[in-house]
Amino acid sequence: MVMRPISYGRQYISQEDIDAVVETLQSDFLTQGPKVKEFEERFAEYVGSKYAIAVSNGTAALHLCTMAMNVQKGDKVITTPLTFAASANCIRYCDGEVDFVDIDPHTYLMDLDKLEEKLASVPVGTYKGVIPVDFAGYPINVERLRSIANKYKLWIIEDACHAPGGYFEDSQKVQQKCGNGAYADLHIFSFHPVKHIATGEGGMITTNNKELYEKICLLRTHGITKDPELLNENHGGWYYEMQELGYNYRLSDIQAALGVSQLERANEGVRKRNEIALKYNEAFKESKITTPFVHDNTLHAYHLYVIQIEDRKGLYNHLRENNIFSQVLYSPVHLQPYYKKFGWKKGDLPVVEKYYENCLALPMFPTLSIDEQNYVIEKIKEFIDE
Ligand SMILES: *Cc1c(COP(=O)(O)O)cnc(C)c1O
Repeated sequence: MVMRPISYGRQYISQEDIDAVVETLQSDFLTQGPKVKEFEERFAEYVGSKYAIAVSNGTAALHLCTMAMNVQKGDKVITTPLTFAASANCIRYCDGEVDFVDIDPHTYLMDLDKLEEKLASVPVGTYKGVIPVDFAGYPINVERLRSIANKYKLWIIEDACHAPGGYFEDSQKVQQKCGNGAYADLHIFSFHPVKHIATGEGGMITTNNKELYEKICLLRTHGITKDPELLNENHGGWYYEMQELGYNYRLSDIQAALGVSQLERANEGVRKRNEIALKYNEAFKESKITTPFVHDNTLHAYHLYVIQIEDRKGLYNHLRENNIFSQVLYSPVHLQPYYKKFGWKKGDLPVVEKYYENCLALPMFPTLSIDEQNYVIEKIKEFIDE
């Protein structure tokens, strides 16, 4: 059987997506037009938040959020070491100080007990905020995090890049969709092609806080406004004011059109990902592979399907030889050379360091066919049964 190379993640572009982009190319607006607004409204509806702000990528979304929370030089902010570097970098963009809390060995999310321990050991106010990450698509329990954050006066920016469509049940048994603004101040998403929804480059911020929403809208476009209600003076129809130092972090209408079209299939994508996960779980049930843990009050969005295996490098290479491109995610952020310069070293966060030794992300994307998944499973079994 001839197989296409199988990567760990892959976008899904349909004919409808292509038609939507072409239609926008033929319209009056390539950027700053109606598609961006439509994408924002549809996305807010999808996650259940009051507001959504489309931006040029997930990293820009994080930067706008740390700016909106007013992170200043030397402000201490906590994140997880098991994430893409951008979750920590956005603190540095504002000259803040990054601190890491180790992960929980089962969920791979920030260990909230360890977070509380750290916060309890210093005066309230030492830390300004926390940036949890829904690693692999597992929505963190932001209800519990909110109660900790309130106690220690922290804001919360949830990096939900991996988990659109996921949810957890809160203590009232209410399904809390990831990004709905109920417990976190701000949530951010990415539309990079390996994520659930692809726009090439793209990102979104969601919130229920009107003040933060307005501040971020301003910062997304150079800090410039034409809104008559916000102007200090008004010289006429042409008049605008630059009131803050902002950026150009806009998403184009071409990308937004693709986003709107992709969003139509978002729920189906999460369902498909859960089917694929179930099949992997079943296949590796009685093996030396550790499959992902999920609490039964949680809908995992499975951006990634990460296993733990003793001979990780062996399996990675064996799969590569068979045209299967699994991936190692992530090399812990605190051990990146840039963060080591701040004093972080091996041994500081033992749980994530152990995780890194044995982790491997298997192919997981909605268009992975049954034949392809069977082939992946067969090649893995071939390796572990050797
Ligand atoms: C992808 C990703 C980002 C950055 O998103 P970009 O759109 O690539 O800038 C940030 N955080 C996490 C957890 C991600 O997976």
